[in-house]
Amino acid sequence: MGSSTRKDLHVLCYQHHRKMSLEFQSGSENAPFRCCEPGCLIRYDTSQGYFLDTQDKTTLEQEILPRVSCSVDKSPMYLAESQTRTKSYRLWKCPECVASWTNEGASNELERKAEA
Ligand SMILES: [Zn+2]
Ligand SMILES: [Zn+2]
Repeated sequence: MGSSTRKDLHVLCYQHHRKMSLEFQSGSENAPFRCCEPGCLIRYDTSQGYFLDTQDKTTLEQEILPRVSCSVDKSPMYLAESQTRTKSYRLWKCPECVASWTNEGASNELERKAEA
């Protein structure tokens, strides 16, 4: 205890925008985050990002998973905030570093980097 772990991550389901929590299975350190919405197949793992907990090919083909990766370390980013300012607002965060990305600020990203 004491160090910040991935348990502290505020991961939202990209579809329901509900907080995802770690599911502790016996002996499994790598349990993914899961959505609290009943029947939701969406999972998030810090190494592979969002994925579906199903083997059903049709479902897998129909679902378009968001792929936002960190520009610093290429880690799959997670949805941390949504709809706080506008309906389409999304804030993505990197699980490995402090990088974040919003869909609103995407066009200014290069400028901001140049200033920093
Ligand atoms: Zn969900
Ligand atoms: Zn990062």
